[in-house]
Amino acid sequence: MQTTNNAISNEQNYVLQTYVRPDFVLVRGNGINLYDEDGKAYQDWVAGIAVNSLGYNDSGVAQAMQEQAATGVLHVSNLYHTEPHARLAKQLVENSFADRVYFCNSGAEANEGALKFARRVAFNSEATDKTDIVTFSGAFHGRTMGALAVTPKDKYQTPFKPMMPGVTVAEFNNIDSAKETITAKTAAVIVEPLQGEGGIHPATNEFLRALRQLCDDHQAMLIFDEIQCGLGRTGTLWAHEVSGVTPDMMTLAKPLANGLPIGAILVTQAVADNIRPGDHGSTFAGGLLVTNVASHVVERIRQPEFLAHVQEVGEYLMERLEEVNSPLIREVRGRGLMAAIELTIEAPSVIKKGYEQGILLVNAGPNTIRFVPPLIIEKSDVDSLIDKLTTILEHVNE
Ligand SMILES: *Cc1c(COP(=O)(O)O)cnc(C)c1O
Repeated sequence: MQTTNNAISNEQNYVLQTYVRPDFVLVRGNGINLYDEDGKAYQDWVAGIAVNSLGYNDSGVAQAMQEQAATGVLHVSNLYHTEPHARLAKQLVENSFADRVYFCNSGAEANEGALKFARRVAFNSEATDKTDIVTFSGAFHGRTMGALAVTPKDKYQTPFKPMMPGVTVAEFNNIDSAKETITAKTAAVIVEPLQGEGGIHPATNEFLRALRQLCDDHQAMLIFDEIQCGLGRTGTLWAHEVSGVTPDMMTLAKPLANGLPIGAILVTQAVADNIRPGDHGSTFAGGLLVTNVASHVVERIRQPEFLAHVQEVGEYLMERLEEVNSPLIREVRGRGLMAAIELTIEAPSVIKKGYEQGILLVNAGPNTIRFVPPLIIEKSDVDSLIDKLTTILEHVNE
């Protein structure tokens, strides 16, 4: 108890208050469970917000960390050749539309880089005024200045204005709106194939195809932000696969190193042809430890049996969620292990009840509970979620 009190009071006295945390302290994990100091288990349907895809205490991840630690080198700077980061780039290229990879340290940073690369391509084309970025309602691309500018949510933007100029917002899944907004001045269009923070809203295949066509017509870069929906989350390695459309660039982060900080920008050769040494860079990016772990993660997740498991358990999750008989559920949405229930009540009250029931849940917007568990969950874990959720929804108004 002593440590719990210290952790919570230290947080309250010394940590900048940008998060509101519940009153327990997590100390260890195994499989899909996290444990607090009293040994209470929490079944984890958050996974560090779609990060810990291989769950906790994974022996392969531990081995990849130990292997690198044993060399005595965690970082040498991007000034030098190292083996794990080149290996990871090769793996990502061999398993995607892309020809080249740039590494960074987070999702927001990946999107910042992608926007810079798009501006670079437009700059080289010598088209004057070709600097606009098109984003969509409900999008989330991160909290840094460039990424924030393409995250059209007043609550996030207003206190930090002025935003980066040149951003226009079209309506998500509305082809006519995209047609009006994407013009000769557009350098890039950035879109999540399945919106995460915005409430788990899949882009339709027709919409993604229309965006591809409009980008081709106007020589604009199509950027897919697969930071949350990529890397097996939806049951295919990339969420965009179901649309048959490929982007010019794709950003990755969250699950790439199962919890170590990393981001990546995957690009076609046509984009790469426009980028020169010195155009972009990062001190930490693509370090040996993080890329050795990511390399292990990609190798595991790309296996057809692994993806088939995500599909199977994901379908089961959707079925079971649809069966929950509660007047508080307005809609069930999602694909693979990226699902959500939209409620008639505020999500935080449900999340709070979840802690009592030993389950971690996270919202995606004010009324939506999202389910982004470790991808290794089993059907029996879904059954346990449904039992707990049913109890929570019965008692949430008490
Ligand atoms: C989380 C997220 C980001 C931002 O990633 P950070 O690592 O938090 O900067 C960007 N885009 C999407 C779709 C995300 O889910």
